[in-house]
Formats: sequence, structure tokens, C-alpha cells
Amino acid sequence: MLKGKTALVTGSTSGIGLGIARALAAQGANIVFNGFGEAAAIEALRKEVAGTHGVQTLYHPADMTQPAEIRALVQAADALGGVDVLVNNAGIQFVAPVDEFPEERWDAIIAINLTSNFHAIKAALPGMKAKGWGRIINIASVHGLVASANKSAYVAAKHGVVGLTKAVALETAATPVTCNAICPGWVLTALVQKQIDDRAAAQKLSAEEARKSLLGEKQPSQDFVTTEQLGQLAVFLCSPAANQIRGAAWNIDGGWFAQ
Ligand code: NAD
Repeated sequence: MLKGKTALVTGSTSGIGLGIARALAAQGANIVFNGFGEAAAIEALRKEVAGTHGVQTLYHPADMTQPAEIRALVQAADALGGVDVLVNNAGIQFVAPVDEFPEERWDAIIAINLTSNFHAIKAALPGMKAKGWGRIINIASVHGLVASANKSAYVAAKHGVVGLTKAVALETAATPVTCNAICPGWVLTALVQKQIDDRAAAQKLSAEEARKSLLGEKQPSQDFVTTEQLGQLAVFLCSPAANQIRGAAWNIDGGWFAQ
């Protein structure tokens, strides 16, 4: 379905971004990888995805706190024909009460989780309009729709992503470019494993007990969303069936937001 198209996925060296990159590559999309990690492991991943799916891949190390690097990342996709699908996925988390929240962590979360989406969209949208097709998929969170205590910066950033998604969707409504947000509940990635480990240490729980307690608090299905499920939702949003899905904040969260 995406043969000949190019998908840029920020933060695709692990977790959700990697799951989405794999799913888009399986549809024939060339992939621009981005994110941190060990150089040899990233190179092996890049080659593995290219070889498995017969697509072209490249890696760009842009830091999502740096607007000039984000612009360079979008430009780097020109080597594969330019960005057709932009997935703004890179993100970080930090948990603390607002009156103890380190200012430097607030700034980093807003920069990486929200402002980077603006810079990438601004850089990629003209090319999509010129080509007459495009998909912008912002990985927000169920925390773009509801809040949890001790996550002020993350919740503010993700609500911001949902707002940005709606504004861009309206500005592109009469074009063949769509913009939507995906709002996952708990997905078992490095970002969440740290929260499970912290919970196990703080409450003297086993790893399994901490996992169950984390899910039990918020996610009625008591099961994690998988990166494969998120990949398939991204594929659907790229399909012709999704041409009129615009400005959605699509929760995929085991029932979290229904409560
Ligand atoms: P992860 O830690 O596995 O992956 C994060 C990715 O972002 C990595 O590739 C990392 O290298 C990259 N990254 C971090 N800082 C960066 C920077 N400054 N510049 C470039 N890349 C950077 O986490 P994940 O769970 O896969 O999270 C991916 C996205 O999904 C995030 O936006 C997160 O907020 C969102 N999300 C995650 C969950 C969950 O339960 N895991 C739920 C809802 C939303």
C-alpha cells in the first residue's frame, strides 16, 4: 500500500516508534529512522528492516530539542524522495509533583514531546502539499485527553499535541494531507518499564506485582497495548479508508479513557 512512499518516524530506535516503522516498512514504505542508541545496533536495525521488507532506509541522529536538527532530519528524507508520512513519536517522561518538578525536565519534555512536532510538521508539510498526498500522525497519549497526578509536563505537552493536531487538520482539511493523533494507554516499552521499576522499588513489589498494580490503576483491560497494534493503526491511518479522518485523537488504551 505504501510502496514508493517514505515515512519519517522520530524516536524510532525503540518502542512504539520502532513498531510503527516496522509496520509501515511491511507496507512497502521507505523508512527514515531517528532516535538515540548505540551506533552499531542502529545500523544493524536499519539494515534488517531494509532487507526484510525490500525498502530503502536511512538513519538521522537529530536531537528533538534542536529545531535546526529537526529541519535537517526532514531534509535528509529527500534522499528517499521526501517525507510522505511523518510520525512524530519521540518522547520522554519524568514523574514528580508540580511544586518539585525540575525546570530543566519541564523544558525538555515540552521541547521533545510537543515543540518538536511543530518543527517537523512545519518542515515537512510544504513537500506533502506539493506532492498532493501526505499523512501526519502525532503520537500523543491518553494523557493528551485526561491527566494523571505527578505528570504535569507530560500531560501539558500531550494535550498540546492533541490541540496542534486539530489545528493542522483544519489547515489541511481541503488538501490530500491528513493530520491525526494516536493516544495510547500503557505500552510496555523502556519509557514504561522505568515507571514499573520505580514502583517496584518504592512499594517493595516484585516486577510482576508492580506491572499488575500499574495496569490495575488505569487500564481496565489489565493488558498492555502492543507496538504491533499501534503499527497497524498507523497503517490504517495511511490507507484510503482514512482519507476523511482528520483531527482525530484516537485512543487505543484498553478502556482507560472510557472511564
Ligand atoms: P521509548 O523510550 O521506547 O522510545 C522513545 C524514543 O524517542 C527512542 O527512540 C528515543 O531514542 C527517542 N528520543 C528520546 N529523546 C529524544 C530526542 N531528544 N531526540 C530524538 N529522539 C529522542 O518510549 P515509547 O514508550 O516507545 O514512547 C514513544 C512515544 O509514545 C512517546 O511520545 C511517548 O510519550 C508515547 N506514549 C508512550 C506510551 C507508553 O505506554 N509507552 C503511552 C502513550 C504514549
